[in-house]
Amino acid sequence: MCGSIAPVSYVDLLDIGERRNKTLLRSYCFQCGCQRCLTEMDLDSPFATLCASVEGSLAASVSEAVEKGARSLEKMEDLRRKGDYEAMLSECESSLHSRGAACILHDFHHVTVHTLRQLVYAAIAIGDWPKAIEASRKLTEPLRRYLTEFHPVLAVHFLRLGKLLRVSGSTTQLAQSVHELTQAVRQLRVTHGAGHPTTLQALEMLQDSQCELSRRHNNT
Ligand SMILES: [Zn+2]
Repeated sequence: MCGSIAPVSYVDLLDIGERRNKTLLRSYCFQCGCQRCLTEMDLDSPFATLCASVEGSLAASVSEAVEKGARSLEKMEDLRRKGDYEAMLSECESSLHSRGAACILHDFHHVTVHTLRQLVYAAIAIGDWPKAIEASRKLTEPLRRYLTEFHPVLAVHFLRLGKLLRVSGSTTQLAQSVHELTQAVRQLRVTHGAGHPTTLQALEMLQDSQCELSRRHNNT
């Protein structure tokens, strides 16, 4: 917004504080003293667990789930580099499912957030829109929490979700796409600029969805 501070991030804000600061030290020779970095160990959301109904010691089960999830993420990266998106998708799903069944890591947990991002990527690569939509939806709240109010990653997230909902075709999803694309335009105007081709493309898509939606309402 005009006159307000535009923060710039040197690191991936979806990483946990410890990793962000390792990167800062390695690449920029400083460590961050911002409120978030100083208090992140007190915040529970990047490390949030679902419930305590896990057999045995919860702490041991959580660290086991985190390690397993981290190994899975490495496998996903590897499959992504090889372009084997089918295998990548099933690795994402089995990683989420094995933790979900054990009821351990929350959707806001940093391992879950990274796994969901990989799932969206793989699902889009093979054209599985329902899976891409489902995982994208789960990402909205954690992304809002971890990123700044206006952030290019958030802008692209809303745009992607709006596009996915548009191609799905149902009237309910079309209405949802209007909602997501409205968020996308609002973000893109700040992160990319009002005249940027991506912003204009999002705006055009939003207007198309609105027109199509009112056309369908008039026909019923
Ligand atoms: Zn910081």
